[in-house]
Amino acid sequence: MKNVCVIGTGISGSTIANLLSKKYNVDVYEKAKGIGGRSSYRRYLNNFGFDHGLQYISPKTSKFKKFCYSLQKKRILKNWRGTHKFNSNKVLENKKHTKLIGVKGNNAISKYLLKNINCIFGYELFKIERIKKNWKLSFLNGDVKYYEILIISIPFAQSKKLLINFLPNFFKNKNVKMDANITVMTVTNKIKNNFSSFLFDDEVIGWAAKENSKNRFKHKYDLWTIQSTFKWANKNISKYKSNKKRFTNFLINRFNKLSKINVNKIYFTNIHGWLYSANKKNLEIQSFWSNSLKVGICGDWFGGPRYENGWISASDLYKKMTN
Ligand SMILES: Cc1cc2nc3c(=O)[nH]c(=O)nc-3n(C[C@H](O)[C@H](O)[C@H](O)COP(=O)(O)OP(=O)(O)OC[C@H]3O[C@@H](n4cnc5c(N)ncnc54)[C@H](O)[C@@H]3O)c2cc1C
Repeated sequence: MKNVCVIGTGISGSTIANLLSKKYNVDVYEKAKGIGGRSSYRRYLNNFGFDHGLQYISPKTSKFKKFCYSLQKKRILKNWRGTHKFNSNKVLENKKHTKLIGVKGNNAISKYLLKNINCIFGYELFKIERIKKNWKLSFLNGDVKYYEILIISIPFAQSKKLLINFLPNFFKNKNVKMDANITVMTVTNKIKNNFSSFLFDDEVIGWAAKENSKNRFKHKYDLWTIQSTFKWANKNISKYKSNKKRFTNFLINRFNKLSKINVNKIYFTNIHGWLYSANKKNLEIQSFWSNSLKVGICGDWFGGPRYENGWISASDLYKKMTN
């Protein structure tokens, strides 16, 4: 069996790794400490935590709906209930809009897909070379590995940088601009209400989710994930690391004012900046595969800013590789 290396454990990497594991020896490398990429679940003491990236899955295509339904039956996914409040005159609430979340965290699908696959964490790929018919992969920790087939499932800018010497011009010249996002996680005083999330029509804050409403844990305080708008994050992402405290306070105060829920005690905060959060436009292809070089690329950004597009891209790449 040929040896395949997949880079990334988000929905794209975990889907392609799972599909390929039926035919090949697959190893998955991930620069972070855990599974999920932009669908990671930030876990803290006593199992409470925050979905600080992907908020919910709302399947659109029949194949992905079927896949999600099978995961609901296995208790990997569930519906997110409660009142999802639209603080906006422009956006109308669509009560039929499905909101699926992971039973134990939004990285549940990746965890399920990767459960029998060799995953190596804390490995950041920084250099790719072609030696005879193999890929030589150099990682930041000094390790070097060789594989016959290489699959990359990371955002466009990073994929392009790593594979610049191997990609055809039509592909590397594509203009894929990804927006940023700045996300605050906070534990606040408990407020009696049935709100699960807020969608705001604001320059700064786009969305907030009450983690307690997902019924994964019980907590005497409220846990909120507050996400900025793309516009505000694009302007501030380069300054966020040196302004963490200021930005955290600013976003919490703004959330308090917009939601009118009266946050008056803060017990915990953390902030995360997503440099590559989502891209608005889609490409005219769903994945990239070079049969002569044995290198493939998949990612949500082929299809636009949604989780489902990562799954579609990986499924498309698998078809290209096996046809
Ligand atoms: C704040 C935010 C909110 C979102 N909300 C929603 C939502 O509500 N609904 C929705 O459908 N979508 C949402 N999305 C988008 C959704 O999260 C993504 O579409 C999806 O998770 C992308 O999956 P992916 O596998 O393509 O990429 P990623 O999840 O980014 O996976 C790439 C993986 O590769 C790893 N990696 C990168 N570089 C290297 C390297 N050099 N070496 C090793 N590993 C590397 C990364 O750590 C990561 O784990 C949101 C995204 C963000 C950021």
